[in-house]
Amino acid sequence: MDQPNATPYPHLLEPLDLGFTQLANRVLMGSMHTGLEDRRWHYDKLAAYFAERARGGTGLMVTGGIAPSIRGWLAPFASCMVGRFQVAPHRKVTRAVHAEGGKICMQILHAGRYGYHPLVVAPSALKSPISPFKPRALSTAGVEKEIQKFVRCAVLSREAGYDGIEIMGSEGYFINEFMSPRTNRRTDQYGGSAENRRRLAEEIITRTREAVGLDYILIFRLSLMDLVDGGCNWDEIARSARAVEAAGATIINSGIGWHEARIPTIATMVPRGGFAGVTAKLRQEVDLPVVATNRINTPEVAEQILARGQADMVSMARPLLADSDFVAKASAGRPETINTCIACNQACLDHTFKAKRATCLVNPRACHETELSWGPASTAKRVAVVGAGPAGMACASVAAERGHQVTLFDADAAIGGQFNMARLIPGKEEFNETLRYFTHRLESAGVELRLGTRAGAGDLKDYEEVILATGVYPRTPAIPGLDHAKVLSYVDVLRGGAEVGQRVAIIGAGGIGFDVAEFLGHGGSEEEEPTAFFRHWGIDPGFEVRGSVEGFSRAADGSGRQLFLLQRSTGKHGAGLGKTTGWIHRLELRHRGVEMIGGCSYLGIDDRGLEIQVSEETRILDVDNVVVCAGQEVNDHLAGPLRDLGMDPHVIGGARLAAELDAKRAIRDGIELAARL
Ligand code: FAD
Ligand code: NAP
Ligand code: SF4
Repeated sequence: MDQPNATPYPHLLEPLDLGFTQLANRVLMGSMHTGLEDRRWHYDKLAAYFAERARGGTGLMVTGGIAPSIRGWLAPFASCMVGRFQVAPHRKVTRAVHAEGGKICMQILHAGRYGYHPLVVAPSALKSPISPFKPRALSTAGVEKEIQKFVRCAVLSREAGYDGIEIMGSEGYFINEFMSPRTNRRTDQYGGSAENRRRLAEEIITRTREAVGLDYILIFRLSLMDLVDGGCNWDEIARSARAVEAAGATIINSGIGWHEARIPTIATMVPRGGFAGVTAKLRQEVDLPVVATNRINTPEVAEQILARGQADMVSMARPLLADSDFVAKASAGRPETINTCIACNQACLDHTFKAKRATCLVNPRACHETELSWGPASTAKRVAVVGAGPAGMACASVAAERGHQVTLFDADAAIGGQFNMARLIPGKEEFNETLRYFTHRLESAGVELRLGTRAGAGDLKDYEEVILATGVYPRTPAIPGLDHAKVLSYVDVLRGGAEVGQRVAIIGAGGIGFDVAEFLGHGGSEEEEPTAFFRHWGIDPGFEVRGSVEGFSRAADGSGRQLFLLQRSTGKHGAGLGKTTGWIHRLELRHRGVEMIGGCSYLGIDDRGLEIQVSEETRILDVDNVVVCAGQEVNDHLAGPLRDLGMDPHVIGGARLAAELDAKRAIRDGIELAARL
């Protein structure tokens, strides 16, 4: 019989004995470049960031990638560890983590041809599609020098106090390039046969193990599916895994997809735990612990993977940015209080690609632990927050947690604001988790909720602080015929359940225009996940063929609607979408046959459809409906009346500024204001 207090996550919370050391549980915080690694004066912040996650109970953490040589830099002057003079700042990190009872490994990452600088080296002089720099092919002596650099870097990491290292052997970086026939055209002992191609990995592990001793964690991240043509096949991957084990690795972590792959691997439309099957296949080949990864964002998914025997550990990177207390909350049996990563990439990977410090859309404190913090308010005040969208929910929770007496108004019957539309988009179901999270957080903070209440200035006059988080309203562009019956706004389509015909023109190709096109173009699938996802993106479900993609093509499984996505500007559609996700949305719509027309003037709408002009030519799009997604305007209608009453309201989120508004800015606005109220 179950004990009443038994955890629902027995596998996740079970310690892992590595012989010379024990991990508290099965959670590995995967490597993420935060942007704090590159400068020594940021290491106090980096230490605080990791310490918070150690305090939250994470079993083992891995740092962002540190290059073993300047040739292996990700970018000019990026982090590297080549000499003893670079060890001291890392000690701040390891001491802070150990003080919290945590464990941390340093990731050694040689960028190879993905490096964004002129010194890049690779097995062969083949430029990657994602870096403008053509690499120099290393001589055999040059390969030996890089091996020595890996070993030296590992030895230095031990001096810095780390519990181990992770050697990055996947994602299309240096070691992975040697392993794959796609990028290795060498004729010496490091090229040609699969045995020769994996020799570099084997030598690095063997010689590192000799140098660091047996009591040091050595994780090897092995590419289990390259998701590019000409990648490795399963036979080669399985042999590499056995070689990695024999050479002295402690743990094998799964790598899924090269950075140049045109298949989503971590974005929100990837099914949760969708790639665990390939780690399960690896587990049959080796005896050492293996780690499943990608889109594992709840304790339930993690537990299921471990309970099924698909892996010995689970790697979660972004979910621990989103909530540093993930493990502690799971251990306490309070999973509903976890701030779940929605896999948007907007504040983490998109920042990294813009050389900005990473943080998290749902948790702006991430990587800002020393700068964005709060304690009890000096004077408790009566606070009204108007609008329970992301800005209002975040603001009300923090203000109430600081001791203020907070009332949160919304005209709608539910909290969430525009998230109630975002969550309806196929592939964006994770937005539901943010609504679940705030439901619990608002309740436990003691916020008084007044839903279904449109607040007027008179309702707010007795509060000491009033915060307007009233969001935005859709822009109505000046197009003749906009009052025609076939015209709908995105709100009519998403919230109003308006009936939409088979031929549709969408005016505006911003984030919402793309989402509406996805909503209308999506066909659904009878198959279960991840099979449907694999078929949709042309992935071999058996993971056998080269790169897991050769011979497989994408399934066209749309709704059958004819869609036109229109914009007045002439640049590429969706230019404002995230760097790491925009390409997925564009590829998706192109695959569905959506006609993207730029440089349009909208001449008018009538019974014939939408008349547009592109260059000198006019064209009538014979459509059943025109859906307007032409941006948004601020909704700060209460500011004037409140000022007339002599009050000085704070205005946040969309109500403050509609231009370039997104949920990242709305939540940050709300928290920053609440922290100083
Ligand atoms: P809102 O979310 O607009 O909330 C304002 C709230 O105020 C509403 O609930 C409204 O009912 C209430 N209100 C207004 N006046 C009153 C009043 N007088 N009394 C009481 N209540 C009132 N952003 C992203 O970052 N990433 C995405 O992937 C993304 N996808 C999106 C997809 C769709 C389909 C849509 C529509 C939006 C998406 N967004 C996305 C945008 C994001 O949702 C907004 O930026 C965010 O919701 C703005 O937050 P806010 O709190 O400022 O305003
Ligand atoms: P948006 O991204 O600013 O796009 C507005 C679109 O409308 C543009 O394509 C613009 O293109 C067009 N437009 C603007 N004024 C117009 C006018 N007067 N007449 C006709 N067309 C006009 O805004 P949005 O799509 O409403 O999205 C709102 C916010 O939500 C965005 O800022 C975005 O950050 C966020 N969001 C993000 C995502 C995401 O996946 N990250 C998804 C959805 C929403 P032209 O000027 O070229 O015509
Ligand atoms: Fe997850 Fe988005 Fe936060 Fe990145 S920014 S950690 S993807 S919720």
